[in-house]
Amino acid sequence: MRASQASVVVERGMQGRGLNGSDMTQDRPVKRNHRIKMVQTTVQSSAVRVASTRLPTTFGVFDMIGFERANVDREETESALLLRLGDPTNRPPLLRIHSQCLTGEVLGSLRCDCRGQLEVAMSAIADEGSGLVIYEYQEGRGIGLMAKLRAYALQDKGLDTIEANHALGLDPDYRDFSLAVAILHDIKVDRVRLMSNNPEKVEALTQGGIEVIKLIPCEAPSNPYALSYLRTKKKKMRHSLTIM
Ligand SMILES: [Zn+2]
Repeated sequence: MRASQASVVVERGMQGRGLNGSDMTQDRPVKRNHRIKMVQTTVQSSAVRVASTRLPTTFGVFDMIGFERANVDREETESALLLRLGDPTNRPPLLRIHSQCLTGEVLGSLRCDCRGQLEVAMSAIADEGSGLVIYEYQEGRGIGLMAKLRAYALQDKGLDTIEANHALGLDPDYRDFSLAVAILHDIKVDRVRLMSNNPEKVEALTQGGIEVIKLIPCEAPSNPYALSYLRTKKKKMRHSLTIM
């Protein structure tokens, strides 16, 4: 039953939105209340491979596989990239589940630690010679780029990242990481060494049947512009960060 529902949504999503990164500029003004609880309802939807290619980077030459999946609960098609270096089946691989941050990763914003975390993870994978990065289109913890800018504008006036989302009628975090779980199932990886400071990623993987045998901190050097944001993540979102 669920499988047939999923296939219908995939077709609709592909016709309506194509395969590009339109999520990058998509705004999501409507408040929705999905989070980790969705893992249990969406994990049944399998991720579909769109294309496989190679991605030479400054860290090494990765295999890059595009995945899509129908998120039945959200009635939309989700996309993610799997970057794979070496053979991740020799031992439980290093894994970074990373959410897109255009402002940090493309524009070099110092308001957050996203770019630094991605570089820490890719560097660690390169040093080990194998590992995985799952890169998801989840700008602004899933609120979209324009809403993220609105939230930044409120943070400029003194609200923290969570208060700003609430002021906009949005949840602090719309991510559920169930697509990452589906991708790991697709590539038959069921044990990982997760590079993350976010306890919700551990919970999501565990609920999805992926065993986190080791949790490795993924902390980038801080800077004065990001301190307030990082402190909020530590205090209100339970991220394990060494900053005070
Ligand atoms: Zn960021």
